[in-house]
Formats: sequence, structure tokens, C-alpha cells
Amino acid sequence: MNPLRPAGIIIGLALILGVFIIGIGIFATQSDDDDDAAPTPVPEVATSDDSEAEAPVGESDATAPDETPEVTVDPEEAAAPGDDDVDSMPEADDEAEAEEPDSPPAEPLTEEELQQYQPNELGQIMVLMYHRIEAQDNPEDVWTRTPDQFRGDLQWLYDNDFYIIPIRDYVRNEINAPAGKRPVVLTFDDGTVGQFRMVEQDDGTMAIDPDSAIGILEDFFNRYDDFGRGGLFSILPLAPFAWPDAEDQRQFAEDKLNWLIDNGYELGNHTVGHINMRDVSDEEIKSELARAEDMMAEYVPDVDVSVLAVPFGVYPEGGDTAIFEGWEYEGRQYELEGALMVGAEPAPSPVHVDFDPMWIPRINSDDEQLGRWFSFVEENPGIMYVSDGNPDTITIPADVHPWLVDTLDESKTEGKEVIRY
Ligand SMILES: [Zn+2]
Repeated sequence: MNPLRPAGIIIGLALILGVFIIGIGIFATQSDDDDDAAPTPVPEVATSDDSEAEAPVGESDATAPDETPEVTVDPEEAAAPGDDDVDSMPEADDEAEAEEPDSPPAEPLTEEELQQYQPNELGQIMVLMYHRIEAQDNPEDVWTRTPDQFRGDLQWLYDNDFYIIPIRDYVRNEINAPAGKRPVVLTFDDGTVGQFRMVEQDDGTMAIDPDSAIGILEDFFNRYDDFGRGGLFSILPLAPFAWPDAEDQRQFAEDKLNWLIDNGYELGNHTVGHINMRDVSDEEIKSELARAEDMMAEYVPDVDVSVLAVPFGVYPEGGDTAIFEGWEYEGRQYELEGALMVGAEPAPSPVHVDFDPMWIPRINSDDEQLGRWFSFVEENPGIMYVSDGNPDTITIPADVHPWLVDTLDESKTEGKEVIRY
């Protein structure tokens, strides 16, 4: 079932490109206003004792214009990675590992276990942001991660006790990670082809490209069963994973989107035309958000796309998220549960006073940002969220890191037991 016609697709892609480039120009000139509009910049992270960890929110904005030329170049086809791992590729129809088994009901941690795991559920959570996973040799390109860089990111996360959780669990304050693990969220914007590419094997069958993001993730999940699973793919529904310049991938759109949902990944809203929300009317915003959701539901019936990766990170005029909270379009009601920013620091715990699901900060996956924050984590372990293994309890150390003192918002702990140790 393909709801799209080729002419519409071509026009749509042209629109996306045009809006993208125009939008970035506006984005660059207005990014300061953006920062002012954000109610939860978590400035402590960026300005406290470690000056090396400084991460002004505007910094990622300042680099955004670099994205413009990258949108129009096409390095990936010329530099397609080798497919010598073809035999180990996960199959698109493999449903054997569709669901992470639920953790057994957790007993309260013993004093010994508390000391062993050092849970800190008031700590911060990294939400990483990826755009393109492609071979490339331009170190200035902050919007492309090579397959090997991405593998390195995942290996670092695994080696440092991180555990991949769905964005919805974070937004809903239902984080479910084993005791002692640090939750992390992976997000992928734009549905670029390098995120999920199908390739033909020697025997003529199709399989997931082991050098695409999904191929790399599946390889990790197969090797490490204590790494969690998931990733939010905020696609552009006119050409899911068929952009840029990957017409041959269009035929797999429905299979890919269903495969993602069946295998523990999530789909996010990114509007239909990658609009700059400051540029358009409220009615246009409502239409773009609703139609994106409807188009994805044509591929995957009843799909939940209630988290929005805000295009360019540019929120509606004045930082007003009222529409996100709920709107009507052509007689139907819609609502978002969360919205993701562009930049530039770890996100607060869902029970932190600064937590606002409509303003979730993300860390861009370039060497500079990741290097900064990975070092920050290593140097400041007491600031990071560490799970107690039980989604029904909020466990916080008595001697919490100075940045986290008095930052628990009791109103966000409803239905949960708060344990201090
Ligand atoms: Zn985007």
C-alpha cells in the first residue's frame, strides 16, 4: 500500500529541500530568540565548575547553517561501504526478537545492592541526535556520522553502563532499565537512507545494510542482550528512508516502517514538509503535524507518533507549545506527548524541576559535542541518572551531587515511591 504518487513525491522533495534551506537561514538569524523561549535550558550543566563541559544552547544553533550544503551533496552512493558482513545481517522479517522481555517485578534494593548500583533517579539522561549515517571524509560535517563512528558511539555507551530506552518511557516517566544502568535515548531525524537501507545480497534476496544505522544497531543488540533496544526515527513521510537520492529504497517504505515498530523502535513526527514553525500560521502547523501522523498511519495502522522532533529545533513563535498539547484538524483531535529540541546538553530526569516534555534537549552526534559530553559523564558520574531497576520507585542518594540538590519536583512523582538512601 503506497499512498503516494510519484509526482507528489518529487514536488514534496523539492519542497523539503527548499524549505530546509530557507528555514536554516531563518533559523540562523533567530536562534537567539529560540534560546530565550526555552524554559528548561538546564544551564547548570553548561556553566558549572567544569568549564570544558560548557555547552551553550546556541552553539548547536550556530553550526546549523553548515547543514545546508550537506543536504544537496550526495556522498553516500559513491562511497557505499562494503557488504562483506552480509551473512550476519538481520533479516527484515525476523520477529524472533521483536520485544525486549519485561523485567521481573523488582524487590526493593537491599542496602548492599544500593551501595553496589548507586542508583540516582534524579540525574540526567543523554538524548543523542543523529541525522545521516554515511561514509564521508569531511570532519567539518557535524550532521553525518560514519558507520564506524556510530559503532564507536554505541560501544562507548555500552562500555559505560548505558542502556537504551524508548523516548516514550522517558517522556512518560516510565523508565525501565536494570539496576545500575544509565538510560540513554537514541534519536534519528529526517529518515535519511543511511539510517535504514536495504541491499541486495549475492543470492538476490534483500537484507538490511549492515552499515546502515539499523544494521549497526541490530548487530549490537544481537551481541549484547543487556544494552536495551530502540531508537526514535522522526521521518519525513513523503520519502521514508529514501532520501537523499535513493529512489530504489522507496519500495521498502511500508516494510521498513512496520519492521521498526515490530522490533522495538519508535516513529516520531517531523512534519510533512520539514517546516519552520516560526514561519507559518498556526493552521499550517496543525495541518503539517496532523498530516504527518496520518501519512505514517497509512503505512502502520494505529502507529503512535506522539513525539515530535521539532524541525530545525525552531519552535512556534514565542516558544508557544500550546498547539503541541492538543489540536483539531479536519474534525479529528491530535496531541503530542513530547517535543525534542536541537541541542545541546543532557536532559533532566522526568522528576527534575526543569523537566518539560515539550522542551527535551538533545546532544548532536558530532565529535565535538559527543567528545565533550562523554568526557563530562566520565568526570561527573554523580550527575547522571542511574536506574534502581524498578519503574515504580524513584531512588535518590542522600548525598546527591550539588547540582541536583533540591531539584526533585514532588508533583512529578505521583504514583511512585520515593526512596532516599
Ligand atoms: Zn530534520
